Parts: sequence; structure tokens; C-alpha cells
Amino acid sequence: MTATNNTKFVKMNPIRNKTDLRDSFRLRQTICSLIEKQPIALFGTSRSETFSIIESYSRALRVPFFLPTLTRETTAGNNNFIISMCPSFIEAVIDIINYFNWDRIFYLFDTDDALWRLQKLYQAFSNRIVDGRKQQFLIDAIRIPDVSNCREILRKLDRNYNFNTKRIVVDLYSIKDYDKFMSQIIDVGMNRDGYHYLLGTLDINGMNRDLWKSFTYGGVNITGFQLVKATHRHRTLIDLLEVDQQPSIEVALTVDAVAVLTTALVKISKDDSDLLSFRRGDFYLHMECSSDPIKSLPHGHKILEYILNVTKEGLSGKIAFDEIGNRKGYTLSIFHLSYRAPIQKVGYWEHGKGLKDIVLMSDRETEEEKPRNRTRIVTTIKNEPFVQLKKTDNGKPWIGNERFEGYCIDMMKKVGELANITYTLKLVNDSEYGSKENGSWNGLIGELMTGEADIALASLTITHQREEAVYFTKPYMNTGISIMIKKPEREKPGVFSFMDPLSLQVWGLIIGGFFAVSFILYMVGRFSPYEWQDEDTDADTAPSDTFSFINTLWFSLGALMQQGPDIFPRSLSGRVLASAWWFFTLITISSYTANLAAFLTFEKLTTPINSVDDLVKQSNLKYGIQKSGATYQFFESSRVPIYRQMFTVMEDAIPSVYVDSPEEGWKRVINERHTYAFLLESSSNNFYNQRKPCKTMKVGRNLDQKGYGLAMPKYSDLTSKLNIAVLELREKGFLHKLEEKWWYSKGECGNADGSDKGKNALNLSNVSGIFHILIGGLVLAMIISLSQIAFHAKIKANYPKDVLAVNSRLSNHNHDYPSVRYTHPMAKRVIIDTPPVITCTTSNGGEPHLIEFEDDNHGDKIISLDDDIT
Ligand code: GLU
Repeated sequence: MTATNNTKFVKMNPIRNKTDLRDSFRLRQTICSLIEKQPIALFGTSRSETFSIIESYSRALRVPFFLPTLTRETTAGNNNFIISMCPSFIEAVIDIINYFNWDRIFYLFDTDDALWRLQKLYQAFSNRIVDGRKQQFLIDAIRIPDVSNCREILRKLDRNYNFNTKRIVVDLYSIKDYDKFMSQIIDVGMNRDGYHYLLGTLDINGMNRDLWKSFTYGGVNITGFQLVKATHRHRTLIDLLEVDQQPSIEVALTVDAVAVLTTALVKISKDDSDLLSFRRGDFYLHMECSSDPIKSLPHGHKILEYILNVTKEGLSGKIAFDEIGNRKGYTLSIFHLSYRAPIQKVGYWEHGKGLKDIVLMSDRETEEEKPRNRTRIVTTIKNEPFVQLKKTDNGKPWIGNERFEGYCIDMMKKVGELANITYTLKLVNDSEYGSKENGSWNGLIGELMTGEADIALASLTITHQREEAVYFTKPYMNTGISIMIKKPEREKPGVFSFMDPLSLQVWGLIIGGFFAVSFILYMVGRFSPYEWQDEDTDADTAPSDTFSFINTLWFSLGALMQQGPDIFPRSLSGRVLASAWWFFTLITISSYTANLAAFLTFEKLTTPINSVDDLVKQSNLKYGIQKSGATYQFFESSRVPIYRQMFTVMEDAIPSVYVDSPEEGWKRVINERHTYAFLLESSSNNFYNQRKPCKTMKVGRNLDQKGYGLAMPKYSDLTSKLNIAVLELREKGFLHKLEEKWWYSKGECGNADGSDKGKNALNLSNVSGIFHILIGGLVLAMIISLSQIAFHAKIKANYPKDVLAVNSRLSNHNHDYPSVRYTHPMAKRVIIDTPPVITCTTSNGGEPHLIEFEDDNHGDKIISLDDDIT
């Protein structure tokens, strides 16, 4: 814009130059060619393609740059030569959000400039305090790449977010864009109850009026602003622009900009005409764009100051600027549309003062009314025994909430009664508990965040990350990460386990003691005269020694076996020794007996792994966890070195050690025999260890302590109700009973640890060793006996005549000596070692008779009987 001074007025001459805005080189050339014409001010748009170039020229040349379009919310300092004609609406939006007390909004925008406003919103609500408490404020910012075709985005927003009311702040570039946007809202069917749009336009009256009809009966709320007053505008425009139609806000603001510039120049030419030099009646400003350095407007700052000091009433109301060229002191009319109430002015907002004379706002009331009787959506995930599908009843499938059963389902029934809510159960779409990926939550938590569900009912672990996103009740069950391994095979007592009560060393010493005692007793018996005993009163007969070596062994063995031997020592020394041995055997046998039962029934259970340290130290047993759950988050975010090390090992493992569910992990532990350990929460660990085939067990202590809670969106109206219900159920023992019901009464493996402690009876395998000994003894005795018979028969065969002769001769005298015993070994001995005379004892107590044996010279034995016998 150039200007001509005519002392009374200033005439503006617009210069227009068309250029390709996408070509920045051309744009620069165009700007330079304009500058050569010495413009007094530049007019442009805040479109990002051109803004920064024009702005940098205006700054370098110190030429005021009027922006009649939507403000950029620029934060540039005093070097800025921009004069924003369009007031900011973001402060008004903030005040309206506060008025409605919204805690979550969608921010739909189409230009980079909107990001400035979004940032202001974040700043305004980042530390929001309500009733003395910090209140979280959530903004879902969604960029619309093409406003002419945004139905898909709208549809997604409609379907994915299940809120009572979705509050959508719309920030588009031009009034035409708002028209396009609102007509697509109608196409998608989002012009109904449950939506509140806050339009960032400053010309809501300039929007296509025909559209409003489609919003009047859907129950939707729409709030927007109007900067230019319609009546005022109409009159002024006819005067100034000689047009008969309502101008757009850009036109009105351009008119105001020209008016501001004119006012400033008139003031300069009156008060400070030296600031501008004239050449043939035109201002000559000495600017040169192509010189190096470029020549700027000599008194640019002064001129800018005059402009910023202009205060006047324009088409856009009161015009005044702050020191960085933004509008101040302006007023926005607030318009509102709601069910059966057409779009109408409901109050206004004044810059620096806030909302005034507001007479709406239905949104607040309806919002509080709505939730009370609504059926809540409860999202859940299958995980036995918390939530599982009920088996079909005689082929009849279950429907609705009846499809599910389990600990959580029973609990929710009670919670629903206590909190007085009705609900519908649904399974989570992606079968995940919830983890944050690329900044957004999936699973149960994600569904709460998007409003798809009102409550998450599951074995959902309370973690600090999740607590930041949603609200948890107090824990309804405590748990912690624990280790599941396959039960080691039990070591059955061996055949010779009766030897176990004493160590081999002790057995060796007992045997040694046995021989030592026997030997010493034998010696005592041999040498102690008090041990000798007369066998015969006959003076010729030598005294007999009872403690022969064999006898002493028999004596010691009898004492050891706690049996009474038939011989006892008579000498003091022998008795002392025997007493010591008896005492020794008494204590030994008592100790042995005391331990024996325990050793025979004890089945050793040696587990290879007892803690995470054991897991880390070895490499044969792989270990894994459920992916994308709290356990994964625990290892991923842990700073404890051992857990970090475990996480790295798990991440690097090929094939993967991660599983999708605890059930899959449990099956893997069973099937991958002793090569896979599973880390899972103790509640599930205990449950699966109670399931057939009862092959798994929990080892070691829990790695951490945490709990499961019901979750709901932040600021849900149910928070305190559900919390109180859960606490009540816990305190009254209802949850404890449920745990008994779903874990232990349905258990399939006996005791909680899966062992059969009750059965202590000794079975054959426990005692088979002693049977082996017994059978061995029997067999040995029979062998000895048979060999003796055979031996005896052989001797008999060698001396048939003699023996027969003796026998027959003895038998001939049966009447006198009815049962004379004749044993051949004795005879042999007699022949070799002793005089050939032995005493034969008669069983009837008669006098013994001598039988004489003679050696013939051939080594054969000849038996001659005593004459008495013959
Ligand atoms: N309860 C866990 C969660 O809420 C899932 C199981 C696990 O991670 O071990 O994510």
C-alpha cells in the first residue's frame, strides 16, 4: 500500500502483484519489486508459505506488516513489525472450557498456526487446580490434512471414543473451511446428542446458515464467536466498500487495517511530518531491497509506534494494540446452539475480563444427569480363574453377561449391587492388558482412555504408569512376580534305604566294633580262668571254654540284634566287655529305629532352581514372561542389575521366550521338560499348579509386591463408588471366600504345593530291601543245608561198610542203647587228631561206651566197637 499526502487526507493506492506462493524465489522477487514502489505498509496473510518471508522483509525494511487473517499467536518480541488485526480467540476458548468444567477435549486443526494455540491450551491447563486438587486435563489433538475430505477422521472419532459427551474444539483457517467441516459432521451423523463443538471461528454468523437446521434437533451443542457486529458491519461496508453483501471477517479486518493505517499517517503528517519525505506529493521512503545492505525505512520504528497507538472503533469493534502488535480490549460475542434452540447470542467475552452475561449453558447440567442410569461398558480379558468363558449348557450357548464366569465376574456382581450400577461385559478387542506404545495405550487401559469402556475388570496390575493414565480402585488381591518350574521327579527310597539312617562310616564302625568285641571276648574266654567251665566231673577231663571264636561272634551278633544269646560270660572282664557292648548296641539300635521310619517314607524333592539368582547363574533352563503385561513392564523398566540382565537375556532369546497368556507359559513349562521356567504373577502361578497334570510348582519368593485393581477413566463418576465397594468386599471376607472357591476348592492336585503329604503308609518299595535280606537269608540257609546233606552223603558213601557195620551193630543193641548217635566228622577227627577213642553218648542217659577206631596202614578207617557194645 502506498500513500499520497494531501494535507487534509491521505490517499491509499493499493499495489497488487500476483505470484506463485509455493516458489519462494519468485515470492522474494515480487516482494522486492513491490518495495521499489516505496509502500508505506505491507498487507499479507498468515499462511505459513508466505508469512515468514514477508515477515522477515518487513522486519529488515522496518515496514509495518498488517495481518488481517487469523492471528499467528506470535511470541516475537519488539523487533516485530506485525500488526495482527485479527484478535486471538484462544483465551476465550480457555474460559469457556473452564466454564463448562471440561477435563478432556479433542482439538481438531488444519494449519501449523493452530499449534501455537494448542500450546497455549496445554500451558493453561497443565497445572489446573480444582477444589484444591490438581486436575488432569487431556487434549487429543487431531490434525485434519484435508478439510474438504475429513469424514474418515470424524468417523473414527465417533466410533473409537465412547464418552458421554465428546467435546471438540475446532480450529480451522477460514470460514469456508468451517462450512465444509460442519457439513461433513452432518454426513457422518455426529450432529447428535453427545457432541459439543466449540468453533474457533470469529465469524459464526458468517457460516452457511442453512447448515444450522440440521443441528437443531440432534441434541448437539455448538458454541462459537462473533467478532463483527452484523448491523454495524452492514452499514459501514456499504459506505466504505460499496458492496451490498456481508463481508467475510478478512474483508472487515482489512478495512479496519486500512482505517488504522490512515489514522496513523494523518497523525504523523500533522504531528511529525519530518518522519516522511515527499517527492511529487508522494511519501518517499528511500527503501531499497536489492542494495547490500538493504535500505530500510528510516523512521520505521516511529511509524510503527504511531500505528500501535491508534485506538478507534472499527468493524471489528474496539481497535487497540499492545506493544507487540496484537489486538487488545476487543469483545467477542458468544453464540450457542442446542437442542431446539437455534443459534443465538448467549453472552460475550471481553479481552482481559473474561465471560460476561452468559445465559446458557445446557452442557453442564445434562452431563451430570446422564451417567446415573446408564448401563456401563465393562471391558475384560480372559484369564483363568479371574475371567473365563462358561461351558455351554446342553449345547445352548450362553448370552450376555452370562457368557462369563470366574473370580472377577463374581466380584463384579457384588460390586454392581453395592455401587448400584448396571453393566455389560465385553472382551477387550486386542487381548492385551495395556501397555504404552508410541505414546498411546493399548488393551484394557487403551479402551478406558478412548472411552470405549467405563470399567476394566481383570487381573489388571496396578502400576505407576497405568495410574497416571487411568484411575484404579484399591487392590482387591495382592500378588507379585514369581517363578514356575516343572516339578523335579521325586527320588523314591531305594531298596537299601533301611541303611540310610546311618551313614556308611557308622555302618563300617559298627561292623568293626562287632569283630573287635567278638575277638576280645574270645581272648577273654580263652585266657581268663574264670571263664572256663568244667564239662565233666571226671578228673581226667579238661575244662571247656564256651567262648570259642564262633560262639563269641554269635554272642556279639545276638546282642547287636537285641536277641538273647544262650551263652553269657562269667568272668568279670567278659561281663564288663559284654555290658559295654550291650550299651553300645542299645543306643545304636534305638537311634537307628528312631530314624528308620522317616527315611523309609521320605521322598526327596530336590529343586534345581530356588530363586532368580539360580536362574541367572545357569544357562540350561530358559525363562520367559508374558509379553506386553505388567511383568514385561517390570523387567523393562527395572534398574536392578539382575532384572536388567534377565530382561536382556529374554529379549535376545531365540526362539522367543515370551508367551501370550499364563496358560501358554504353564503348558510350555510342562512340555519343554525342565528347560523352561516361567515368571508370572503368583496368583496365576498358584492356580495353574493346582491344575492337572500337577507337574508344575512355584519356587522362591516373589520378586515384587503389587496388587490387582478395577480401573476406570480418570475422573469417572464411579471412582469412589467402586472403591468403597471393593474395600467393603475385602473387609467382609467376601473376596477371601471367592479366592478359596476359585483356587483351592477347585484344585485338582491335593495340597497347595501339589504334594500328597497325607499318605505316609510304607509301601513295598519302601521296605523291599529287608525282604531281599530275608529271602537272601532263606536261600543261603537252604544252600548251606543242602551242601551239608550232600557233604554228609559223600562221607557216608566213602565209608559204607564201616558205617553200616557200626550202625547195624549199634542197632542190634538197640534195646540197650536205643539211639546211639554216630557222626562221621567226629570219627574222622578222632582218626586223625585224637586217640582212637571217643565217647558215644546215649540218649537214654546210659553210660557212655568207648568206640575204638584204628588206622589201618592204608589210611582207611577201621572201627572196632567196644566189647561192651558188642
Ligand atoms: N496382570 C498383568 C497385567 O496387568 C498381566 C500378567 C503379567 O504381566 O504377568 O498386565
